[in-house]
Amino acid sequence: MGAWSGTAITTWAQRATVVANTDFGRLSDLEALLADAASPELSAGPDDLTLARTAAAGLREAFLRAGDGDAGGSAATLNMVMARLYARPRVTVDDEGWRTYVAGRGGSPTAEYLANAAWGLAQWVGQYGPDRLGRCRASRCRSVYLVRRWAAQRRYCSERCANRMYAAAFRRRQAGLGQPATDERHAPADRPLPAARG
Ligand SMILES: [Zn+2]
Repeated sequence: MGAWSGTAITTWAQRATVVANTDFGRLSDLEALLADAASPELSAGPDDLTLARTAAAGLREAFLRAGDGDAGGSAATLNMVMARLYARPRVTVDDEGWRTYVAGRGGSPTAEYLANAAWGLAQWVGQYGPDRLGRCRASRCRSVYLVRRWAAQRRYCSERCANRMYAAAFRRRQAGLGQPATDERHAPADRPLPAARG
């Protein structure tokens, strides 16, 4: 597993998010995750898959609790995830100086990946606050996410989900206006009007 550095915090926090959003139904889910860690030789087995499922459930719960305003519960959950992974910081020395990384249970690539993800998420929340752990409010979306840039991210995981919900709300308004009503002649103010009128 690569050495830890300050710039790695967001990268690992994002990886924790991917873990939290993955159900790990198949080994290929885990292999895809490890391939992202830039170490192509990393391999995984069925035990690793079980470990990933447990960690994913815990990380997801940490997001959901934070999203519900339960910062203490979120922290406790994250601590439990790290304890189960035996996540612990390690320091190595090479020609360029000290390097730190987070080791995981048994030293397997999966355990170390998950341990670094949990640690990265903890660091990221330490920097930005637990209210930046989001859960998407769009219908039919279960994603959790890091609230990073734009204001709409307070509610939705992606521009795609935001646009989908805005479009649905627009269609609902249109459909409502399309129905015959006794006061239809006095349309609501947001009804599209012909340009030549009035
Ligand atoms: Zn979403």
